[in-house]
Amino acid sequence: MDLLLTGKKALICASSRGLGFASAKQLAAEGCDIFLCARNEQELALAAAAIEAPKGVNVYFKAVDLSVSGASATLLKEAKSKMGAVDILVNNVGGPSPSPAASTSAEAWRNGFDQLFMSAVTLSQGVIPNMIKNKFGRIITITSLSVVEPIDHLAISTAMRLAVTGFSKTLATEVAEHGITVNTVMPGVIHTLRIENLRLAKAERDGTTLNLEMEKTAKLIPTKRLGQPEELAALVTFLASPVASYITGANIPVDGGLRKAWN
Ligand code: NAD
Repeated sequence: MDLLLTGKKALICASSRGLGFASAKQLAAEGCDIFLCARNEQELALAAAAIEAPKGVNVYFKAVDLSVSGASATLLKEAKSKMGAVDILVNNVGGPSPSPAASTSAEAWRNGFDQLFMSAVTLSQGVIPNMIKNKFGRIITITSLSVVEPIDHLAISTAMRLAVTGFSKTLATEVAEHGITVNTVMPGVIHTLRIENLRLAKAERDGTTLNLEMEKTAKLIPTKRLGQPEELAALVTFLASPVASYITGANIPVDGGLRKAWN
């Protein structure tokens, strides 16, 4: 299937590794100019170099910390100045440290709000006017399966993903008539550094090992394995394409069947 992505301009957040990187790589392979961001300039440069973009595809990047107020606006300005426009926005950011709901501090809640919620809101609001003008736009936000089932010890992540989902769904309705789709993608357990770090934290809490925690996780998933970043990136790339023009306001899991609920 031709996804008709050639020449589209995509801003993919938190993309020096993991789910963001895999999504950027596939969008570039489909012919999009891509703009990467993450906090570390060196890691970004390595990530940009590792993307074997087809001839004529441009790869840009900027180091930003999306948890800092004003960073999203700066990033957007830079992306627009380099690419001319943003047709596709992939909202993504590093996950917060694990903590229980009962004892998470007010400061940690506020930081989580800025990092996971306000960054997606600011970037989405910033790309909408031009998308309306162009009668085309795709906003995809990477959230978590915690939107449908809370994950123990991930209180901030769980609460903020729900907030972002509410924002995305509301926005989807507002802009649908302009050819703009707004969707979220909910990873289950996809093998990235984030997952290894979370399993390591659990191993330390429970006195086990990283290997044991990874094995236990895989056994819980009907596929009996963790997902690969490319398997989530494939959905992001499809949703980003003009072909996916009638899918909006959706929250789609990529979880190997882990989610047991009907919806
Ligand atoms: P990862 O740790 O592999 O990659 C995270 C990326 O975010 C890196 O490029 C990192 O540099 C960047 N980053 C971190 N903090 C940032 C900040 N403040 N500003 C800008 N960039 C920042 O993680 P991942 O597995 O790719 O996860 C991506 C998102 O998806 C996270 O929010 C994570 O919690 C969420 N998620 C992942 C899974 C999974 O199975 N991997 C499941 C549920 C939710």
